[in-house]
Order: sequence, then structure tokens, then C-alpha cells
Amino acid sequence: MEGCYPDFTVVDEMASVTLVIEGHRLYVHREVLAAWSPVFRAMFVQDFKEKSMAEIELPGKKVEDFVQLLHCIYPPIQEITDSNVFHLLPLTEEYQISEVKKRCEEYLLTRPGSMELLITAQTYGLMSVLEKCIEFARKKTLPELQKDAFFKSIHPENVIQILMMRCGDLEDKLEQSRKMVTERDVRLYGCINEFASGYGSFCTECKSRRINDTCFNCLKMFRDKVKTKCDEVRQIRNQMPLLL
Ligand SMILES: [Zn+2]
Repeated sequence: MEGCYPDFTVVDEMASVTLVIEGHRLYVHREVLAAWSPVFRAMFVQDFKEKSMAEIELPGKKVEDFVQLLHCIYPPIQEITDSNVFHLLPLTEEYQISEVKKRCEEYLLTRPGSMELLITAQTYGLMSVLEKCIEFARKKTLPELQKDAFFKSIHPENVIQILMMRCGDLEDKLEQSRKMVTERDVRLYGCINEFASGYGSFCTECKSRRINDTCFNCLKMFRDKVKTKCDEVRQIRNQMPLLL
């Protein structure tokens, strides 16, 4: 794809302004820059000294990053990728090139949520990416959050949002667990109650309907019943695991 883009380092008689970055000259068009960037527009139309200058020095910029930005606003449109998005964002912010910034945001929305991305989103006000990353962070435990290197850089209002959402999640789970425990207790006590109410079956040896301590058949039936009920209790516990 690289060959499809204009080479801004080649002197172009149609170019109306030369940007000087890291000693490199980029021959570009005021109209194109102004069409995308209100900051460049202001430079060219207002009473700035840049208005009449044919050369504008942009100190502190990397020429490679700036060429990537130019590829985004000169056709064909530069694809946003992992390797250029983090260089483009600060430039789109500084020059208020909202269309390219929007494309960066759309691209980042396709990436998995992470704490690092959360910091990027809050730095550049990428609200949909921020929302996605807060969704990611609310699923983490407090120790996991605290040991994350990026946690300290999260703005307090975002930390509050993450913790409030997490708190809400935990309260929901707690409530569900409470209901589950109640239901489980009812079933478990039901099993125990069957012992309290005797065998529930007629003994063929001593003909007793209740447990007879001196009858081996009664004791054997009781032992079998204990085993059956223990299995039943284990099954109830497995069927109804507690969430917390
Ligand atoms: Zn018996």
C-alpha cells in the first residue's frame, strides 16, 4: 500500500506550504490541511505569522508520525492499525482533526478492552472506548485492579465508576446467593427431617415401623438410608453451588 500514497518529501510546484519536521521538508497543500484541521485553518486564515509563511516549522513532532497523519487526510485513506493509532491520536487531538480521531476511536473499539486502553481513552476523551474498558475493569477483583500498573493512572471519577459498578455486581450476586442458600437449606433440612420422622418403611424382621435399636435389619435399613440421604445431600449441593 505504501506506494499508493503521495511522497510528501518530493518538491511539488502545486504545494502551497512546506512543513519542516526534524529537518525534513514535507510539501503539502494548505487547503487540504485546513479542510481537515481547524487549527491549521486558523494558522492560514487568521493573522498568524504562519499566514504568509511558505515554510512552517513543527518542533517536537516526529516526521514519520506526521506522514502517517497526512496519509489519513490525503486520499487514499490510510488504514488505522496498532502501529499507527497511538501516534495519530495525539496529533488528531492537537490539530483537532476530529474525522481521523473518530476513525482511531472506531478502530480501538475493535480491540479487546484493557487497562492500558482505558488510560488512552480517558486521555483523548474516547467515550465509547472508555465505556468498553470500564466494562472490562469491573470484572476484575480489587487486588487484581490494585496490582495493575495502569490502575494508578485512572482518573478518580473513572475509578469511582468501576468500583460502583463492581459493588453493584457483587450486591446482585450476594442477593442471588441469599435466595439460593434459603432454597438449599429448605431441601437439606428436608433430608434431615426424614430421619427425625423414622424409617418410613416397614421392617420385615421385627415388624416395627420405627427404628428398633435391637434389630439388625432395622439398623441395616437405617445405615442404607443414611447413605442414600448423604448422596442426595451431596447432589443438592452440586446442583446449587453458591455464587459467592
Ligand atoms: Zn427391625
